[in-house]
Amino acid sequence: MREVLCFTCRKTSTDYIELFEKYICESCQNQILSLNPEDYGYSYFHNKVKILWEEYLESLVKNQVINHG
Ligand SMILES: [Zn+2]
Repeated sequence: MREVLCFTCRKTSTDYIELFEKYICESCQNQILSLNPEDYGYSYFHNKVKILWEEYLESLVKNQVINHG
């Protein structure tokens, strides 16, 4: 199985999901899923996912620009 670098914890993992061409390892997934908004780590992961989302939208915009010449 392929080993990838986790986007949030920067460790390599073979158990991961791909989100917007970035990888999130299983332990980070579990952390994200178990977080409550009051928890200390919540905003950290929230920001990471927000960055992913913004990069994804940016790449969509860029692709459209390329497609339209
Ligand atoms: Zn991770």
